[in-house]
Amino acid sequence: FADIAMYLAKESGRSNYKFFANETLQNKQPILLESELCSAIANGEIQVFFQPKMASTGDCLYGMEALCRWIHPVHGIIPPAQFIPLAEKNGDIVVLDKKMIELVFAEMNKKAFHGLHVAVNISTQQFYNNHFVSFIHKQMQDNPEVDVSKLEIEITEETAIQDVEGAAQTITELKELGIRIALDDFGKGFNSLNYLKQLPVDTLKIDRAFIANLPEDFQDQAIVSSIVTLAKKLELAIVAEGVESQEQLNWVQDLKCDYAQGYMFSKPLQTSEFLTYLQAFNKEYKKEVRPV
Ligand code: C2E
Ligand code: MG
Ligand code: MG
Ligand code: MG
Repeated sequence: FADIAMYLAKESGRSNYKFFANETLQNKQPILLESELCSAIANGEIQVFFQPKMASTGDCLYGMEALCRWIHPVHGIIPPAQFIPLAEKNGDIVVLDKKMIELVFAEMNKKAFHGLHVAVNISTQQFYNNHFVSFIHKQMQDNPEVDVSKLEIEITEETAIQDVEGAAQTITELKELGIRIALDDFGKGFNSLNYLKQLPVDTLKIDRAFIANLPEDFQDQAIVSSIVTLAKKLELAIVAEGVESQEQLNWVQDLKCDYAQGYMFSKPLQTSEFLTYLQAFNKEYKKEVRPV
């Protein structure tokens, strides 16, 4: 992956550098006016970035996670941490999540992305909204070319436990449409595991807080290996989030964790940059980028 990074740096030169520079500047942006977000969504300022999701063996690109970014005309690229909490407070999050789903369906229509698995994050408010499943169904009807078996909806463990019965119902309905469901930020809330029995989810995503101090931290080692064992026994796919180093990757690979995501492979990329990443990946490995 160091090779791919080098290749990307060579290919896209300064624009690549600019992108990463932006990522670091983002945290210093001022909090934006709530009133701006709604019009920003309408104006197309909310965009999809993609972060690759790899087989933990590192040699196969399985798909990607869609992450929203606000491309602000004055402030530049704003990360979700700076506007999602606001949007959750004033209800704009429902509009934002719908927009993201529309954008993701549009991207999945593109030939270059066929065969890749795409995950999209859904907020608590949207997930428990009565119209959510029919909204997804409508997207499917409007985009008949999209293979929804490649679509995964991510809800956080926090969202899932707010109303386990309601969540189980919605998950069942989504699964009937052929969509996969992941439990995001798994382990973060130190919740009881009892609810897992009731939720027909497909994937657990280990919160990156548990990956960050691997391989040194022996407590995190114990937690991560227990979560992987749990997932295997429950026959769930398992993703390690926030993999930043080869040592961390080796560690989750040894545990037979299925997938890994993190800066080690790539930060979230704009669509055009993600396409370049796919090409570089194909070139390096001289094999198709396709799910395992
Ligand atoms: P998440 O779904 O858990 O997404 C993973 C976050 O971890 C992303 O932050 C990603 O950029 C970051 N990340 C990935 N790999 C690494 C790594 O190796 N190291 C570190 N330090 N961080 C890494 P991002 O894009 O800022 O998103 C933050 C959160 O905002 C997401 O967490 C998700 O909960 C939420 N979010 C993002 N997009 C959407 C969206 O469209 N709708 C909703 N409702 N929430 C979203
Ligand atoms: Mg997520
Ligand atoms: Mg997460
Ligand atoms: Mg999160």
